[in-house]
Amino acid sequence: MKILGIESSCDDTCAAVVEDGRRLLSNCIASSAQEQNLYGGVVPEIASRRHIENISGVAQSALDDAGLSMEDIDAVAVTFAPGLIGAVLVGVNFAKGLSYAAEKPLIPVHHLRGHVAALYLTHPELEPPFLCLVASGGHSHIVWVESYTKFKVLGRTVDDAAGEAFDKVARTLGLGYPGGPAVSKAALGGNPKAYPLPTPHVEGKYNVSFSGLKTAVLNTVNHVRMRGEEISVPDMAASFQQRITDILAEKLLLAAGDLGAKKICLAGGVGSNLALRQKLEKGAKRLSARLYLPELKLCGDNAAMVAAQGYYEYLDGNVADLSLNGLPTLNIDYR
Ligand code: ATP
Ligand code: FE
Repeated sequence: MKILGIESSCDDTCAAVVEDGRRLLSNCIASSAQEQNLYGGVVPEIASRRHIENISGVAQSALDDAGLSMEDIDAVAVTFAPGLIGAVLVGVNFAKGLSYAAEKPLIPVHHLRGHVAALYLTHPELEPPFLCLVASGGHSHIVWVESYTKFKVLGRTVDDAAGEAFDKVARTLGLGYPGGPAVSKAALGGNPKAYPLPTPHVEGKYNVSFSGLKTAVLNTVNHVRMRGEEISVPDMAASFQQRITDILAEKLLLAAGDLGAKKICLAGGVGSNLALRQKLEKGAKRLSARLYLPELKLCGDNAAMVAAQGYYEYLDGNVADLSLNGLPTLNIDYR
């Protein structure tokens, strides 16, 4: 079954074709991130407008790259939640029009379930149940993936998402948007012990909190500058990265140990962080568990993950009609 996936929940306009949830036939992205960098973060209206301009071209490219036409496609899957609502609606409406005109089923896909499904493209042998940390720009969840369409949230951030914390620290350090790649690059030349940063306390065994950490970075930067001294950007980037990846890895491995999970997974944009990947490799080995990491190009937003999850949603009977609406928020465990 060949599914055309459409994704427009943030600043990337994406389309992709995936066969049977596992085989990537094409994967196209038009990003407005460079333009958003001018404003220090995503301006929702700019994202929506770029989606409108780019979406049909990106979808056509995805078909062309796969060497297919709409007649060869069996269904259209689209991210309908969660995300910037104006941005989500562009993809939803486009997918509705396409599914109606081509007379193909329309499959609604939850964006975070999509991030998890990126793992199926990288690891054809991976099947639920497994434990997964989904760390992205808007979410940080520790999820028990019971089946392809059944999820249980064991822990979550009580304030900022991990990606959001990277983005805010990047802004404080003058590193631009998106912050994650910039901070991890700057951290390469830094000393992670240079600036002591706190480990925030949080209720809930598997919950995390990053807002205090972000504020600690800001306060340290301000204090250093008030003393008339220069902040070392590489040292602060390395100190922050060390602390936040320690917290994420520790919580995921704690849950894995408690549950006796033998399959541990990482997903979402922050999943491309090499320090985090290395910590999880070590931790999984200690627990004699296998670690599944998504390919770097599938960590951030893309439509291949949407098409992959769409396949399993379709098998589960999750098909929408033309009344499908977008939602700004929706839990990953919705039924
Ligand atoms: P959500 O998926 O929660 O709706 P989103 O789609 O905006 O949010 P993603 O595209 O999954 O988020 O991930 C983007 C986030 O990942 C950004 O916050 C970015 O800074 C972060 N990120 C990307 N690369 C890295 C990296 N190497 N290290 C840390 N963070 C990173
Ligand atoms: Fe995302």
